[in-house]
Amino acid sequence: MINFKYIFLFFLIVLNLNAKDLEKVSIQLDWLHQFQFAGYYIAKEKGFYKEEGLDVDIKEFNFNVNLVNDVLTKKSDYAVGKSSLIIDRLQNRKIILLAAIYQDSPMVLLSLKNSNIQTPKNLKDKKVMLTSDAISAAAINSMIISQGIKLSQIKFIPHSFKLEDLINGTTDAMGCYLSNEPYILKQKGIDFNILNPSDFGFDFYGGIFFTSEEELIKYPLRVKKMYKATLKGWQYAFKNINETSKLIYNKYNTQNKSLESLIYEGKILKKLSKIDQGLLGNLNLNKLEEIKRLFLLLGVSKNYQDLNINDIIYNPLKINFTTKEKKYLESTNIKLYTNTDFPPFTMKDTHGIKGIEIDYWKLINEKLKKEPQFEIINENQILTQKVKENKNHVKFAFANYDLDKKLQTTDSITKINIAIATLNNKPFISSPQELEGKSVGISKFADYYQNLKNKYPNINFVEVTNIKENLEYLLKGKIYASIDKLPALSFHITQNSLTNIKISGTIGEPSNIKLLVNSDNTILLNILNKVITSISQDDISMINNKYYSVIYQTSIDYSWIYKVVIPLIVIILIIIITNRRLKVEIKKRKIIEQELHKIVNTDVLTDIYNRRKIELLINSEIERANKYSKDLSIIFFDIDDFKKINDKFGHKIGDKILINLSKVVSTSIRKNDHFGRWGGEEFIVILPNTDIKRAKEIAEKIKNTIYTYDFEIDKNISCSFGVTQFQSNDDEDSIITRVDNAMYEVKEDGKNSVKVV
Ligand code: GH3
Ligand code: MG
Ligand code: MG
Repeated sequence: MINFKYIFLFFLIVLNLNAKDLEKVSIQLDWLHQFQFAGYYIAKEKGFYKEEGLDVDIKEFNFNVNLVNDVLTKKSDYAVGKSSLIIDRLQNRKIILLAAIYQDSPMVLLSLKNSNIQTPKNLKDKKVMLTSDAISAAAINSMIISQGIKLSQIKFIPHSFKLEDLINGTTDAMGCYLSNEPYILKQKGIDFNILNPSDFGFDFYGGIFFTSEEELIKYPLRVKKMYKATLKGWQYAFKNINETSKLIYNKYNTQNKSLESLIYEGKILKKLSKIDQGLLGNLNLNKLEEIKRLFLLLGVSKNYQDLNINDIIYNPLKINFTTKEKKYLESTNIKLYTNTDFPPFTMKDTHGIKGIEIDYWKLINEKLKKEPQFEIINENQILTQKVKENKNHVKFAFANYDLDKKLQTTDSITKINIAIATLNNKPFISSPQELEGKSVGISKFADYYQNLKNKYPNINFVEVTNIKENLEYLLKGKIYASIDKLPALSFHITQNSLTNIKISGTIGEPSNIKLLVNSDNTILLNILNKVITSISQDDISMINNKYYSVIYQTSIDYSWIYKVVIPLIVIILIIIITNRRLKVEIKKRKIIEQELHKIVNTDVLTDIYNRRKIELLINSEIERANKYSKDLSIIFFDIDDFKKINDKFGHKIGDKILINLSKVVSTSIRKNDHFGRWGGEEFIVILPNTDIKRAKEIAEKIKNTIYTYDFEIDKNISCSFGVTQFQSNDDEDSIITRVDNAMYEVKEDGKNSVKVV
């Protein structure tokens, strides 16, 4: 049985790779082609975009481009920008940040060694070439101001983008990319100095991949795919710098760079991406808040809106409903019409209605926080009619559905394989071509029928009305093979103990399960697409696998399990042998997916939950406590005098203490508790089903565990703890504020203790 799960998963993944009907999108770069944009080229040239069904046009920068405007007006769908995008958002230009490729901005101030500019103070009365746009130079300006120099004390001149001007003294310092100009100076044997804002604590992001809010709201699935494929491209580019540089050198070398300079650029940028610390693409809430604060302090943005940074960071699993959509959901009943004569997609047994489609409908409703509504009508044409008549009715449909103007379909929820069944004594079929010249039964209503007919004109298709008839013809020898959806074939073979029939192969192109929606209801279509995008691969595997195993478990004659499973294993072996490369691809894909998931939820240093995840958990636990009237407690703690520890033992040891402390606490809490890092040296434990008395005991226990742990420094580590219990009118803010205040009281009373509020 377990084998079967993997077999199915394998199919699901293999067939996912079949991309067709590519969607056209564009990315506007913010400079000329060079390694700076390597991930995008790789995602395109290695087919990562194509695998996701995307045809991406990568547009080089020119001075007519206005990055944010172009994205907002859809002149480009996606673009790359700097941390100054936050200012655009402050000015209420609705963009969404997807990923930051450079965790530190590559923008630095470069000067010649002989001009003796070693600190920002030395810039006084000197000529500095920066982009006319003060905003994009914000990190450099912040660095200068932070060192006590007024911007008015510097002679700023417009940027010529000619390194010659630095060499011949037209300017004393120049805003440059760490990854480019220093290399050229090195080549020429000219010594130089670098002032890097990140050395002064102004670590801005660089290479921010972004899009418009409109794109996210209208095409959430496309955004998810772009995000995934782009990060995959970057992973590859940084892991294969030489190969990537060669590709840029051969195909994108509009600047006539040497191969060596591209490799140099790649190496520097890889460091800035912090990919080795697992930070590729990371957008940190606190860091963005800090950047926002700096922009406001610098006065580069005056007319700004209240901005919640959380709203501008893309989260692939978050569903963003518009106010209109929320209203619609609150006020409307959405009903699924379904035909239970269609096992195992929908079917009825003594317990009621069930099946693959029913489970998806339940899952979708769970995500919509609605009670799933069904109505059974076992006549397909009437079902479709219902959707045409009422714009709040839906039904499931497969791809290539014969649409009319009144109907539209959602994005694909999952792919379903189409399989070939034959009698036992026939050989396996590795390609439908092997059926040429033979009679093959096929349902005349099947969504894949026309397509197959066009592709294999030499197969003699025999139209049947349903799967039962199809298999009857097969048993009677009227046809050589039957084609139908794999789950349906397996179901009928096992349920009816058709001992002479086996699954002999698949036809390669799967069908998509979608929902059919009335075309007057765009709101519902958008809502459903958003929910579908948020369905994880785990959810899909769980539902699909459930029906494969159920089918075989309920089979009366268990020997038939092997009749189906063994042939499938053979098919798999053929595929594996003939296509090893694909397997490697899939493995990589899984790893990337896992890494993506980790990036989103885990704190990089300590490997426990990060603040974003903890916030999500607090909200869901509050919801649960409310709904089921359960206890819920929260512990908030902060290491005492951690600054002194850092000062005395160094930052590295400080980091190690944070790591070890996280490990000890993780092992000392219960399985259902959630533990995460709230910020610097602050931690939170969420304790579901726990009252305040028990929570206090747990806090005491954690306190002692930490205090007695040997951190390999000649000093015990103590922490101050706040503990509180959820009250019925609490929300995330109120409960955190309370527990945080409790912790501060402990700090004021001499630390190293637990305070309950
Ligand atoms: P208190 O007992 O009042 O909490 O004093 P404190 O020194 O612990 O608190 P304060 O907030 O003044 O300083 C927190 C210090 O934590 C400052 C910072 O250097 C350190 N810190 C924050 N994050 C990290 C980190 O990731 N690694 C290391 N090594 N230190 C960190
Ligand atoms: Mg502290
Ligand atoms: Mg603190």
